[in-house]
Amino acid sequence: RRALGSLGKSRAKFISAEETTGVTFDDFAGQEYIKRELQEIVRILKNDEEFQNKGIYCPKGVLLHGPPGTGKTLLAKAIAGEAGVPFFAANGTDFVEMFVGVAASRVKDLFASARSFAPSIIFIDEIDAIGSKRGGPDIGGGGAEREQGLLQILTEMDGFKVSTSQVLVIGATNRLDILDPALLRKGRFDKIVRVGLPSKDGRFAILKVHARNKYFHSEEEKDVLLQEIAELTEDFTGAELQNILNEAGILTARKDLDYIGQEELLEALKRQKGTFETGQEDSTDIPEELKLRLAYREAAVAVLACHLPDPYRPIIEVAMVVHRQCHFVSCGITDIKSIRSQPNMRYAEISGRVFSRKNDYLNAIVRACGPRVIEEQMFGIDNMCWISSKATLDASRLAEFLILQTGMTAFGKAYYRNQSDLVPNLATKLEALRDEYMRFAVEKCASVLREYHSAVETITDILLEKGEIKAEEIWDIYKKAPQIPQPAVSP
Ligand code: ADP
Repeated sequence: RRALGSLGKSRAKFISAEETTGVTFDDFAGQEYIKRELQEIVRILKNDEEFQNKGIYCPKGVLLHGPPGTGKTLLAKAIAGEAGVPFFAANGTDFVEMFVGVAASRVKDLFASARSFAPSIIFIDEIDAIGSKRGGPDIGGGGAEREQGLLQILTEMDGFKVSTSQVLVIGATNRLDILDPALLRKGRFDKIVRVGLPSKDGRFAILKVHARNKYFHSEEEKDVLLQEIAELTEDFTGAELQNILNEAGILTARKDLDYIGQEELLEALKRQKGTFETGQEDSTDIPEELKLRLAYREAAVAVLACHLPDPYRPIIEVAMVVHRQCHFVSCGITDIKSIRSQPNMRYAEISGRVFSRKNDYLNAIVRACGPRVIEEQMFGIDNMCWISSKATLDASRLAEFLILQTGMTAFGKAYYRNQSDLVPNLATKLEALRDEYMRFAVEKCASVLREYHSAVETITDILLEKGEIKAEEIWDIYKKAPQIPQPAVSP
């Protein structure tokens, strides 16, 4: 075996290589069945020959799918750590470069490196960035390039024999729905493991893992406190639970206390629920105008979510968070991760849903227009600001998706990957139709927001005062609000 050290400095800067990850299955808590499934693979990796004599082979590829922060990377590292084999990691997005030929050659590099240290593990995080359906949505471009990369992965995986010099490829994604089916075929990623959000017991177990190096008054008190946090953290990921404990540790140190107590944990939980980046904690330097704009935006989004609900994604809470340095705000939806990284709800994800009907798509486009429309209504078209521009982008993308890829519109029944697939006269037709959908969506959205203007105002007031509001209260306000009748808007 060559020493791994040489690798990092060579051409392959995008690969991170670890001789040994040092991670074990003990570091992953909750969802014990996942560990049991993966332990089997570890056993085969370790005793390759023994299993081969019995006709049992290690799968070539394992796909871990589930929301971000649920421990997929951790699991991949644990497999490497348990099997005692080197770990080569890259991110799917690293392959998708603007330069022609880079994707395929990077894939080759990655596999060549791993092969020369076999048995070894390749981990490709966000594999959907390179492995999405050929002919699938091509947001951001680089389609042809990505296809080359994907083909190269398939070639590499088909190329190696299951043998003692096994390279196990582990992919991770939160978008199983957009992966190219070719990747999932036998002999490729034919083992698919779902890594979901932890249950209450799972959360407790995860908290215990991350409390290992923290000080509590006693073991008993630790268990009681962590149970309490586990109860309060439905929908939290492992990464978020870990953050809570870290934050609680910092608060404890800051207060010069010896042990983490209930107060610190609850404070850390509150921060985790609606914070983004670490920074100043002082909100006084945030301009009043920005606060007002943010509050209106969240209120509008909340009212739209009541009026045109997404059947798959009910709101649970809306929080306006402006107590950190970055002027972000969150719309509380079930996907807590996406709240933190993005100021707006990510409606685009709805596009991957199998059971969405045309009307669901239309409603999603209308909802996506909310931030833009409320800004225009409240501040005037010449006085809008950046906080609504992401929403305009989301809405347009959704409209384009509906037109090009669902066959549900007047555009036609065919499927088009993106605009570049279109001959010029179809491109003109697309633009016209997209404008029409956007006009409808903006008008419809404006009409709903006018009709429920008093609800928007009430929610805005509450957000400005308290910073957050629960779904229950939102629904209550929405249902009781006096409506201002509006003329019908139709597509
Ligand atoms: P993913 O790859 O799914 O986005 P990660 O593996 O990067 O998630 O998780 C980030 C961190 O969160 C991990 O390093 C670990 O500390 C913590 N974590 C997530 N899930 C768990 C879990 N089930 N048990 C223990 N820690 C976890």
